[in-house]
Formats: sequence, structure tokens, C-alpha cells
Amino acid sequence: MDAEVFVAWFEEAARLVHRDRDRLTRLDAAIGDADHGTNLDRGLTEVRAALAGSPPETPGQVLATAGATLIRRVGGASGPLYGSVFRQMARSLESPVTLAGFAAAFEDGVVALERLGKAALGDKTMVDALAPASRALALAVRDGVGVREGFEQAARAAEEGAKATIPMQARKGRASYLGERSIGHEDPGAASAALFMAALAAVVA
Ligand code: ADP
Ligand code: MG
Repeated sequence: MDAEVFVAWFEEAARLVHRDRDRLTRLDAAIGDADHGTNLDRGLTEVRAALAGSPPETPGQVLATAGATLIRRVGGASGPLYGSVFRQMARSLESPVTLAGFAAAFEDGVVALERLGKAALGDKTMVDALAPASRALALAVRDGVGVREGFEQAARAAEEGAKATIPMQARKGRASYLGERSIGHEDPGAASAALFMAALAAVVA
């Protein structure tokens, strides 16, 4: 996986988030402040522009640029949280990038996210999509499956993880202020995290 694949990942993620912007914002309207779709759409548009402006030469540079841009440009909790995932991945990733190397860096990214957000599995956040995706990648590496299948399994795990947030009560972020009223709605950050993983599966396919 070279820098071009990583640029393609963020371009595809930007496309999917733009396509689903209103759905993400509706999810955030139910248990937050109705800005997640617009926040992330704006942030990823900026990421695209930053990557196009000075095309990075390594996967690490792509991730570092994306992470820094999301932290700077996304108003709301999700910018710094996604930013921490990608910046940690940039630090951890070794070249050349293999599925095993990606999986290890991604795991580090999820740990950084959990630390920054003080969130764990079951708190009804983006962690509930990203941690299962990370586990799926680790299993794919262990079982020696191909890159394409590995990312497909990760995307499926993220999607299932996002849906699994529906019956959860939020314990972190704005949605936690609602207490039991947060039950019955998919977490917007988990939904967007599933889009990031779907984008990755699409570009390696
Ligand atoms: P804000 O809540 O500031 O408006 P966004 O609407 O952009 O930010 O993003 C909300 C999403 O951020 C939530 O759906 C959740 O997935 C994620 N989130 C919020 N707080 C945390 C946290 N402490 N840890 C992990 N994820 C969080
Ligand atoms: Mg919001």
C-alpha cells in the first residue's frame, strides 16, 4: 500500500461522507447537536484540498496531513478524535505498508482515540465501530487472509459495530447528557467511522 492508496482512501471517505452528510446530521440531531455530517463533510473537503495542494510522498505523510487538518478544521469533538487516530497511525506505520503493518498502526490509533476520549467499547461512540474493525484486521492477519478480504471484514465489523450502538445508552460525549433517551438511535460518530472503513475496503478492492 503506497501513498496513492492512502490519498484514495481519504478521497473515497470524503465522497461517502458527503453522500451521507444529511443522514449523519440527522443521527446527530437525534442525540447531539445536528452538526456531525456538516462538520465532517467540511473537514474532509479540507483534507482533500490539503492532499491535492502538496501531494505527500509516504503513507505516513498522508495520515499526518489528514489528521492535522481534521483537528484544525472540524468544529466538534469528532475532529480531534479522528485526528488522534490518523496522527497516531502516521507515527506507528512502518514502510512498506503491509496488512499486518496497517493493522498494528490502526490498533495504536484506536488506543490513542480511547485515551483521548476516555471511551471504551459499549460507551456508544466511534470506538464501537473502530475497535471491532481493528479486531477484525488483527484476525485477518492471524488467519493470513488477503488485503482485500481483510479490509472487507474490517468494514463489515465496523458497520455491525455502528448498528450495535442503537440499543446502547451513551456514556461519553454530548449524547451522554440525554441519559436513557440516547437509547434507540445509532451513534453518528460510529456511523461515520463505518464509512471510513467502507472507503478503505473500496479502494483496496
Ligand atoms: P460534537 O459532539 O462536539 O458536536 P460531532 O457531532 O462532530 O461532535 O461528533 C459526535 C461524535 O463524536 C459522537 O457520535 C461520538 O461517536 C464521538 N464522540 C464524542 N465524544 C467522544 C468521546 N469522549 N470518545 C469517543 N468518541 C466520542
Ligand atoms: Mg455534534
